[in-house]
Amino acid sequence: MPTVAIVGRPNVGKSTLFNRLVGKKLALVDDRPGVTRDRREGDVRFGGLHFRVIDTAGLEESDAATLMGRMRMQTEAAILAADVVLFVIDARAGVLPADQPFAELVRRAGCPVILIANKAEGGTGLSGAYEAFTLGLGDPIPFSAEHGEGLGELHEALKGVLPKPDPEDDEEDEDAPGGRSLKVAIVGRPNAGKSTLINRMLGEDRLLVGPEAGITRDSISLDWEWRGRKIKLHDTAGMRRRARIDDKLEKLAVSDGLRAVRFAEVVVVLLDATIPFEKQDLTIIDLVESEGRAVVIGLNKWDLVADQPGLLKQLREDCTRLLPQVRGVAVVPLSGLAGEGLDKLMQAVVQAAEVWDKRISTSRINDWLSEATSRNPPPAVSGRRIKIRYATQVKSRPPHFALFGNQLNALPKSYTRYLVNGLREAFELPGTPIRLSLRTSQ
Ligand code: GDP
Repeated sequence: MPTVAIVGRPNVGKSTLFNRLVGKKLALVDDRPGVTRDRREGDVRFGGLHFRVIDTAGLEESDAATLMGRMRMQTEAAILAADVVLFVIDARAGVLPADQPFAELVRRAGCPVILIANKAEGGTGLSGAYEAFTLGLGDPIPFSAEHGEGLGELHEALKGVLPKPDPEDDEEDEDAPGGRSLKVAIVGRPNAGKSTLINRMLGEDRLLVGPEAGITRDSISLDWEWRGRKIKLHDTAGMRRRARIDDKLEKLAVSDGLRAVRFAEVVVVLLDATIPFEKQDLTIIDLVESEGRAVVIGLNKWDLVADQPGLLKQLREDCTRLLPQVRGVAVVPLSGLAGEGLDKLMQAVVQAAEVWDKRISTSRINDWLSEATSRNPPPAVSGRRIKIRYATQVKSRPPHFALFGNQLNALPKSYTRYLVNGLREAFELPGTPIRLSLRTSQ
């Protein structure tokens, strides 16, 4: 779901706008445990548009001495999380010096910005709205969050810039029994046994299975249920080694593999346990990582393995060594042909989705940060110590954290690795990519 951030200096009416957009659902805001208290989020359905909105206004109640610094960091975090920014000014007050630092952050946002001249009910504050042109953020929308004026124009503007909704998501009801479908793709080299596994899961011979590699050409999505949980399974023709791509169908199949990864929330990378971790398998896992999906490794054809405990131990070690980017990834032995290990596989898939979706409160992250940086302080660069002052989670799916401080661009790779590993351990985030953004404030 796309994310819209409401940004602006204190008192311009961000909270009122937030409440106006979230409407009746307001009672549900922040009902998820662990959502940060200094960033409210809500689900918005607005004339056919569906998005998540984040508000930074909660911070206005915090200690005045640290307010602006914290506001700034929180605003940056919200902007990082956003697909679209709503920048709010007070039309009656006009453009004030206090608006400028926020406008500056918004200008650098790299995503579409909609400028809202609030408190302009009944045509008041129009001169302030004109002043807003000087911000260089496009045409302001005269608006009144309090009175609900300007909603039509805001809707038009949002419609123009929000990413197109995924038709698959459209009609899904999150409150229905079983909830929203979990999207799962099974990818792997040709002949890893993807089709056999999917057929086994569905209990029908829906797909063609054969000894020649690449017999399934078409990619399709199939609805399935596992222990009351709705699943959308994507089947693909498999990702073939680029060197062998010499006809159109094969090319199609490669882009299908990528499409499968993009479709999915959790990607099961299916390895043939008798020939595990070929270069192509690692390439596929890299792709899944760079697309930010949760990963589970399936060790297929386990029925053909003689020394099962020995191989499992070795492959788990290989995973730790070869796949640091998804450290702790679940490794599940199975046999699609014999129908063994499927329950364990699906348990791992559901767990991976939960980890991928996790939200961690800002206070817990900062407690962890002060502990981690005092145990192992960041190095000094040209005599000045790098200081990390604040951290927050800006997004989930996959977990994405932002760090704020001085000279963070000089942090050595080894230190950011230390932090990512620390976050993974402290907040139990195995098997998911983790993103880290560094924001230097001085
Ligand atoms: P795909 O290209 O990944 O879709 O692979 P297929 O599902 O077409 O399977 C390729 C071959 O491996 C077929 O001959 C299957 O019968 C065989 N196969 C698939 N899964 C297993 C398994 O768990 N055990 C064994 N022994 N053979 C399997």
